[in-house]
Amino acid sequence: MCYKMHLEAVGAISQIPTAYPRQRYIEPLLRGEVFAAAPGGEPHGQTGEDWTPVRQKVTTLPRVAAGLQIDHVRKSYVTSAGHATHYVMFCRVEGGRTEGPPELLMFKHDEVEWETIGAWNGLGMRGNSSAPMLFNGVVPEANLVGIELVDQSVPVMAKYMAPCQILTYGAADLGIASGAFEIACAEGDKRFPSGGHRLDNPINQRRMAEMSTQREAARALLHAVAAMADAGRATSVLPPLQAKVFCAEVGVRVTTDLISMFGGTAFAGRLPFERYFRDSRAGLVMGQANDVAYETIGTLLFPEHWSERLSGN
Ligand SMILES: Cc1cc2nc3c(=O)[nH]c(=O)nc-3n(C[C@H](O)[C@H](O)[C@H](O)COP(=O)(O)OP(=O)(O)OC[C@H]3O[C@@H](n4cnc5c(N)ncnc54)[C@H](O)[C@@H]3O)c2cc1C
Repeated sequence: MCYKMHLEAVGAISQIPTAYPRQRYIEPLLRGEVFAAAPGGEPHGQTGEDWTPVRQKVTTLPRVAAGLQIDHVRKSYVTSAGHATHYVMFCRVEGGRTEGPPELLMFKHDEVEWETIGAWNGLGMRGNSSAPMLFNGVVPEANLVGIELVDQSVPVMAKYMAPCQILTYGAADLGIASGAFEIACAEGDKRFPSGGHRLDNPINQRRMAEMSTQREAARALLHAVAAMADAGRATSVLPPLQAKVFCAEVGVRVTTDLISMFGGTAFAGRLPFERYFRDSRAGLVMGQANDVAYETIGTLLFPEHWSERLSGN
């Protein structure tokens, strides 16, 4: 997940190779000096005690003489919090776009003050250090990702970040399913002193067959959409979101079935499946949470219906 968030964070700058980001970020990235994080959502507000739905607004940064002011902005979850060398913050900018995806502001960890709030003690994703963070400082406006682009009509996040951002969630979720499944292939085929193998059980054979089919279907969809994106044919977030929700559900389904198949041994943590099971649950609530993603998919499938409803017809 740390690597996924790094890819998400550097996805847009990697695709906008103009002089400023190339010299500031791409060259250090190629030298292995960048480990990036993406402080995005603020569902728990400035105090951490608030709550707004996951489609929340992000803070609008005021313009000041030296650039954009980040005034004690609190991000609710930041993977690799405190460990990253660079942050790509989701924000709005005074006088800028108020609708659609947020802007992206990139800065080095030593350009602003920051603190992490608490430690990560999540159900899963134990290594991910996803603590809330508080940022304070002023960052030059030149650090707005894509500010030098002539065509500003499409938000940078939509054009340069979204496919990588969404598909890498799917890839992480599929990786969880695949990792668990591969251990199951070896463990299931293990011969016990009694002479028995778990795979001898027809229910387990059926389970493995179904899981393998789910995994291949998820992989095929993910790769097809990734190829579309690479070829510049993913002009809508619909296919990436479909791949994301499917991979997240396959992750949960495979790891849940494996806990059943390996029974008390798995549940007791004497086999590594429970860790995959816990990690897989994050896939449903991360990124665009599956519930939210399905809502988006629904509106994208019937755009005319929704534009009429929203205009009151
Ligand atoms: C391990 C982990 C790492 C993370 N890392 C990062 C990170 O690096 N950067 C970052 O920006 N965020 C990160 N997040 C945050 C994550 O992407 C979600 O934004 C966050 O989990 C949502 O906030 P919440 O948990 O308070 O959910 P809530 O806002 O409480 O939502 C909970 C559920 O309510 C439902 N729901 C809420 N609002 C709506 C709506 N408008 N429409 C439909 N259904 C809705 C959905 O079912 C949703 O799953 C991370 C989360 C986890 C678990």
